[in-house]
Amino acid sequence: MNARALEQRVFNFSAGPATIPLSVLEEVRDELLCYPGAGASVMEISHRSQVFTEIAADAESTLRELLAVPDDYSVLFLQGGSALQFSMVPANLLRGSGKVADYLVTGSWSKKAIAEARKEGDVISTFDGKADNYCSLPPRESLMTSEDAAYLYYCSNETIQGVQFNSEPDCPDSVPLVCDASSDFLSRRLDIAKYGILYACAQKNAGPAGVTVVVIRKDLLERGDTSLPGYLNYQNHAQADSMWNTPPTFAVYMLGKIAHWLKEQVGGLQEIEIVNERKSSLLYNAIDGSDGFYCGHAAADCRSKMNVTFNLPNEELQSKFIAEAAAKHLDSLKGHRSVGGIRASIYNAMPMEGVESLATFMEDFAAKNR
Ligand code: PMP
Repeated sequence: MNARALEQRVFNFSAGPATIPLSVLEEVRDELLCYPGAGASVMEISHRSQVFTEIAADAESTLRELLAVPDDYSVLFLQGGSALQFSMVPANLLRGSGKVADYLVTGSWSKKAIAEARKEGDVISTFDGKADNYCSLPPRESLMTSEDAAYLYYCSNETIQGVQFNSEPDCPDSVPLVCDASSDFLSRRLDIAKYGILYACAQKNAGPAGVTVVVIRKDLLERGDTSLPGYLNYQNHAQADSMWNTPPTFAVYMLGKIAHWLKEQVGGLQEIEIVNERKSSLLYNAIDGSDGFYCGHAAADCRSKMNVTFNLPNEELQSKFIAEAAAKHLDSLKGHRSVGGIRASIYNAMPMEGVESLATFMEDFAAKNR
C-alpha cells in the first residue's frame, strides 16, 4: 500500500462495515486488475466460470473448516443482508406451520427480527429486556421454550447495546435454534450442531457488505413452501450451490480471503477467541478502573467482546471525547443514535495496537476531565 494511503488509515472502531485486515486489502489490491488465470478482475468474470466457481468453493470450504461445520449442514452465500434473514427465517420455518416461534428480545436487532416474523405467523417473546433498556440477558433458568415451538430465535451479540451471550440458550432438541450471529461470527468457537440456522452478514468480521452467510441444517431446507418467492426459499439456494441467481461475487471472494487470513495468519477461532478476550478486557478494565467516570451499558456478565458500549458523565464530555479521539486517529466511536454514548467495535481485524491506544486515551481523558 502506498505510504500516503497507509498514513491516512485510522484505527476504525465502526460497527460495520468495519476494519478489514490490511494484508487482505493488500492482496486484493494486487489482484484487482487481473485475478491470476482469469485475464480480468474478479468483478468482471462470470459467476459460472471455473475461476469463480473455485473461488466460491474455496471460500465455503475454508469457512466450513474454521467453524467445523458438520456435513449435514449447508453453507449458503446470500444477499439482502441480515435484515432479509429476519424475514426468510419465519417465511421458511413459521409460515403455514400452525406453530408459534419463540424470540428472545435482547436489543435492537432481535426487536427488528421479531417485528418481521410477526408478519409471517404467531410469535412470542419469551424474554424482552426493554424494562432495563436492554443491558442484560435472561437468566438461563428463566428460559422456557415450548417443545413444539417452530424455532427459538436469538441474537448472540446485540451490536447496538453491546450485550453478548456467552453460550447458547437452552433449547429443547425438538426445536431448531436460530441465531443471528452477525456481529460475533468467526470471533470464537461454536458448536454448530446446536443450531438449526446460524446466519451473519459479512460486514463486521467476515468481509465487505453484500454477502450474508447462512449455515442451515439440511433437514430444515424442506420446510419452505414451494409457494414462497424463489429467492426466499433456502432450498433453492442450497440446490444451486448459492448460484440460484448471480451471487455477490466480489464479496464472496473477499470473504474467502478473510477466512484464509483467520485460518493461516491468526491460527483459527481458538486463537482469535483469546485475542478478542484480551482486547475487550483492555477496554472493560479502562471502564472499571475509571472510578465511575465511564459507565458501561451492558451488565457485567454479558459484556460484548465485539462492541464495547459506555457513557461519559454528560453529552459535552462525550462530544469532546469523540473529537479528541478522532484527532488521535481513533475513529468512529460515536454510539448508535438510539442508545447514545460511545461504542468501540473491536472486531477480529482491529489490531491490538488500536485497542491499546484507545485504552490509554480513555485513561488520559478521564484523568484530565474528571
Ligand atoms: N443483526 C445484527 C446483529 C446486526 O448488527 C446487523 C447490522 N448491523 C443486522 C442484523 C442487519 O444487517 P444488514 O444491515 O446486513 O441487513
